[in-house]
Amino acid sequence: MNVPAGVDQQAARPPQQQVHPKATRPLPSRLMAAGPGAGIAAHLATFGPLDAEAAAPSLPGMLEASGLTGRGGAAFATWHKALSASRSGRQGAVAPMVIANGAEGEPLSFKDRTLLANAPHLVIDGLLAVGRAVSAAQVYIYASSVSLPGVQRAVAERPRSSGIALVEAPPGFISGEASAVVNYLATGTAIPFDKQGRLSETGFKGQPAVVLNVETLAHIALIARYGPAWFREVGTPEDPGTRLASVSGGAPEHDVVLELPGGAVLTDVLLAAGTNPANVSAVLVGGYHGRWVRPEPYLIAPFGPAHRVVRPGAGVIHSIAAGQCGLQVTAGMARYLAGESAKQCGPCMFGLPAMASVFERLAARVPDPRLPSEMDRLAALVSGRGACSHPDGTARLVTSALEVFSDDVQAHLSGRCLSARWN
Ligand code: SF4
Repeated sequence: MNVPAGVDQQAARPPQQQVHPKATRPLPSRLMAAGPGAGIAAHLATFGPLDAEAAAPSLPGMLEASGLTGRGGAAFATWHKALSASRSGRQGAVAPMVIANGAEGEPLSFKDRTLLANAPHLVIDGLLAVGRAVSAAQVYIYASSVSLPGVQRAVAERPRSSGIALVEAPPGFISGEASAVVNYLATGTAIPFDKQGRLSETGFKGQPAVVLNVETLAHIALIARYGPAWFREVGTPEDPGTRLASVSGGAPEHDVVLELPGGAVLTDVLLAAGTNPANVSAVLVGGYHGRWVRPEPYLIAPFGPAHRVVRPGAGVIHSIAAGQCGLQVTAGMARYLAGESAKQCGPCMFGLPAMASVFERLAARVPDPRLPSEMDRLAALVSGRGACSHPDGTARLVTSALEVFSDDVQAHLSGRCLSARWN
């Protein structure tokens, strides 16, 4: 690229270079319809302006009618958060804070950074609209170091949005947990705290906090413009709209962010990402706190029976190839998660390393028949015992691995491995 003399080379980069390298395919997207690296001009040309003030009164009702659920992992009803915070703001003396959460500490996720690189103005629109709707005292964008420079440029394009506080999220799996986010803003420590009630009601030291994933806010910006009926034109009645998914597992250059309709079929998603389900041994859906399943036509949706539905969680779909040992892969994840405990709850602090050790022995083909039952015992012991869902998520990962890789477990207990690499 030729850069004229006197022009800063960094600033003169074409906008495509802001796109996360994993977003290598065209995004047939509602959310990224303004194109790669869209600045304010492309954003307004595609979506038109959004008057946050005018949208505020009807926003909670529109969100309820849309059926939008959070896209950060918990799939909580978005309207309920907004409404309870606005009630708290009206009834109490302390106005709420609203936080756009782009920390994305999940190792297999790259959809939030891709969204922030391509559609930061939709996230800002959504944040300002919710801020107005709940009469927020302060609005924040809390984003990873990868995303923050692009967000800063986007905010600078909108002088009237200068009230947004930008905060760099510290690295780590737990730093994006909602109460850890609020704790970090209040005290500088990104660890969860034991909540007395919902953050959107009781918040931190009496100040309600609405923490919304950046993708959730981008959907809100579109619902505020086009209405709940438009949002429901895609997806299913139970799972309306679209969601972004970070799809990975093959060669890294094939990792891709896809925008999926609600209730998408897992095997269709694999095919859309260029992966033949026949060549896949298992798929981790939801991320490190998610669930292993076989590559079968599960619906990807936040609600429904486990034999038919797999929850999208943080929007991660990660496949492992036939011939890869799922027990070894899971052992590495369990050890990582044990290291990410904030070490303030006993079951998490001691239980997760113990689970990781048992799983490592299983992965290493130690012929001890007590290992699976010990894993089950530890998983039951830590579940529901932490201040946050970290122990539950870790337990979900390892118990799903024992189930899906049950043949591998039996082989490992007799000193063998079904993985082609070991035979
Ligand atoms: S459960 Fe674990 S990660 Fe969560 S707050 Fe307690 S120690 Fe920290």
